[in-house]
Amino acid sequence: MLPPARLTPAPLPPGATIGIVGGGQLGRMSAMAAARLGYRAHILTEEADGPAAQVAAGITRGGYEDEAALRAFAAGVDVITFEFENVSAAGLDLLAGLRPVHPSPAILGISQDRIAEKSFLNRHGIATAPWAPVEDRASLDAAIARLGLPAILKTTRLGYDGRGQARVATPEEAHAALARLAPKPLVLEGLVDFACEISVVVARGADGRIASFDPVENRHAHGILDLTFAPARIPEDTAAQATALGRQVAEALDLVGLLAVEMFVDRNGTLRVNEIAPRPHNSGHWTIDACPASQFEMHIRAVAGLPLPIATRHSDAVMKNLIGPADMALWPEILASPGLIPHHYGKAEARPGRKMGHVTRLFPRGSLPGDFGIAGALGCLAPAEGCDRQDERP
Ligand code: AMP
Repeated sequence: MLPPARLTPAPLPPGATIGIVGGGQLGRMSAMAAARLGYRAHILTEEADGPAAQVAAGITRGGYEDEAALRAFAAGVDVITFEFENVSAAGLDLLAGLRPVHPSPAILGISQDRIAEKSFLNRHGIATAPWAPVEDRASLDAAIARLGLPAILKTTRLGYDGRGQARVATPEEAHAALARLAPKPLVLEGLVDFACEISVVVARGADGRIASFDPVENRHAHGILDLTFAPARIPEDTAAQATALGRQVAEALDLVGLLAVEMFVDRNGTLRVNEIAPRPHNSGHWTIDACPASQFEMHIRAVAGLPLPIATRHSDAVMKNLIGPADMALWPEILASPGLIPHHYGKAEARPGRKMGHVTRLFPRGSLPGDFGIAGALGCLAPAEGCDRQDERP
C-alpha cells in the first residue's frame, strides 16, 4: 500500500532551474535527464569544461567551500541537489538557508561519515559488517581484539573507489596502516566473507512515495566498479529482502531524492549494508538503457516534486565501466560493435583509474547470461583483469 500523500510544494514547472553541486559524470547524466523534462541544469563546479558543464544550461565556477560561489550558485537556481557528497556542513547549511536542498543536509551528513552511517543503520536494526571506531593505537588494539584479523581499516570520510582503506592481516600491518591513513578517526571493519556484492537504487518523492530499481550485482576490479549485472543473480527472497532494506533506509532517512544502498550478500544469504550514497550511483547506470525512467530521471523527478514512475526494467542488462586509457583505446571498436550502447563522459584526459564512460548491453528480460556468456557478449570488453570473480552464489 502506498503511504498517505503528504502536503508537498507544487512541482517545479518546465523552464525552472535545478542546481547540481558537482561537475562529474553523475551531474552530466542528471543534467541530461533534467533537460529531457524541460528543466535547465545549473552546475556548481571547479572545472569550466567538465563532464556536467559541457551539457548544462549554466555553471557557477567555484569551490564547494567558497561562500561567494555558493551564494552566486544558489541565486541562479530554484532547487539544489548533489552529485558530489563532500561539501562541508557549513557549506550545506549556507545553501539550505537560501534554497530547498534535496536530499537534506542531514542525510548528506550521515553518508559523509562512515561512523555516522553505520551508527544510523545499526540504530535502525540494519546489519553492517562488525565495526569499531579507531583513533589511536590503543583503540586499534581494542578493535582488533574484538573483531579479529584479517580486517579492513578505513578512513571515515572522503574515501571512494577503494581509496583511503587497507586490508590488514596482522597487528603490524594494522599499526602501519594506522600511521598511513588520514584523516582520523578511522574505522576497523571485520572482513565479510561475501558471496556477492549487490546494490539497490531507490527514489523517494516529496510525497513519500517510493520507486525502487531491481537489486543488481556488482563486480569490482582493483577497488573500482567494473561490471554491474541487472538483475542480481540471487534468489528471489534475497532480492525481495534487499529491496525492502533499500526502502527501509530511504524511509528512515526521510529521503527526498535518490539513494543507492550497497550491500554484501554473505554465504548464508544474509544482507549487510556496506555504504549508502544519497545520489545517482555507478551501479545504476544500466537504468538509462533498460528502464523507461533512468535513475537520473528519478533523481530529477524526486527533487523537482514530480510523480515517480514505476522503476520496472524492460530488459536485463550488463554495464561495464570504461576505465582509463586501456579501455578508451577500445572506443572505436565499441562504437563498431552492434549491441553495445556507448556512453562517453566527455573527459579530455584518460588517466589510469579514471572513469571515462560506460557501455551497456541489453538482454531480453529473464535471459541474463552467466559469466561465460557475459564475457562473450561484451566482446572486446571482457571483464577487467583482476575482476573479483564469484563462482559460488548464495
Ligand atoms: P567501500 O569503499 O567501503 O565501498 O569498499 C570498497 C570495496 O572493498 C567493497 O566494494 C568490497 O569489495 C570491499 N570491502 C569493503 N569493506 C569490506 C568488508 N567489511 N568485508 C569485505 N569486503 C569489503
